[in-house]
Amino acid sequence: MPFSVEFFPPKDEAAEARLWRAVRTFERLGPAFVSMTYGAGGSTRDRTVRITGQLAAQTTLLPVAHLTAVNHSIEELRALVGAYADQGITNILALRGDPPGNPLGEWTKHPDGVEYAEQLVRLIDDLGDFHVGVASFPEGHHRAIDLDHDTRTLVDKLRAGAEYSITQMFFDVDDYLRLRDRVARADPEQGNKPVIPGIMPITSLASVRRMTELSGSVIPPDVQERFAAAAGDGPEEDREAVRAVGIDFATEIAERLIAEGAPCLHFCSLNFAKATSEVLERLGVDMTSVLPVASAAR
Ligand SMILES: Cc1cc2nc3c(=O)[nH]c(=O)nc-3n(C[C@H](O)[C@H](O)[C@H](O)COP(=O)(O)OP(=O)(O)OC[C@H]3O[C@@H](n4cnc5c(N)ncnc54)[C@H](O)[C@@H]3O)c2cc1C
Repeated sequence: MPFSVEFFPPKDEAAEARLWRAVRTFERLGPAFVSMTYGAGGSTRDRTVRITGQLAAQTTLLPVAHLTAVNHSIEELRALVGAYADQGITNILALRGDPPGNPLGEWTKHPDGVEYAEQLVRLIDDLGDFHVGVASFPEGHHRAIDLDHDTRTLVDKLRAGAEYSITQMFFDVDDYLRLRDRVARADPEQGNKPVIPGIMPITSLASVRRMTELSGSVIPPDVQERFAAAAGDGPEEDREAVRAVGIDFATEIAERLIAEGAPCLHFCSLNFAKATSEVLERLGVDMTSVLPVASAAR
């Protein structure tokens, strides 16, 4: 089963060392691609560009660079795409991005920038031979008027030249299947393009609460109960128990997605390899090459 992995730009040297440990582990597992998110501030943006370049130059991995329209003029966006091309990076995930500071706050376009991701897709396509992906939202984007509007947005981005979409993480596989059906109904041709499901193996309740607050996603009550039972009612959540349920839950979601013909599983790794590797192992991915004992014996 093809899988891919999402990283984010690390904040300091220790975090960068951790990222590279995860990168080297995943490298041995053979993901279809790895992607690097793009933040809101100047220094994190520089790190995205630098590390994505290093992934292209120093690993066997295929990097996909996320790029957002936040606080960028069209000229700057063009320069960034050019900087990626100079490093041999031709895969870009074109996103509008969220308002810095408060993702659910008011969106303001840069005066010389673009308003929607669809325009960014066209801008990148016009600059050369790039492979562009976009974001999709199984529960609908929190700013979309309704699911029809959300579907139209996605179809427009695909018609503009995007070759695939990667979904926001979700908790109910039916939401993913309904999204796929909506796109296929709205435009059968665009519906043939891969909708790659985003999966995050949950290892702590606090982090998942934060992620859902930021994205506006909803955790279904039965899933909430399952994690709450694992967390216990002590002053601190039982991290081991939550992690175990998180790995089980991600594996169950992945198994159903594979059965439903998902084209690839995209794991939000949070720059750790362990949880995702455990899910992949349960899915039957050959892990022998990542075990030090096995590699030493070869
Ligand atoms: C897989 C994935 C990766 C992500 N990576 C990053 C990242 O690296 N950095 C980051 O900052 N954020 C990232 N995000 C978050 C993303 O930037 C936000 O969710 C953002 O709010 C929406 O981006 P978009 O590209 O879908 O925007 P768009 O497709 O432009 O949509 C934004 C809103 O505008 C509406 N809209 C679009 N077109 C029109 C139109 N013509 N008329 C009226 N309304 C319209 C849409 O319905 C939607 O509500 C990611 C999201 C996903 C799913």
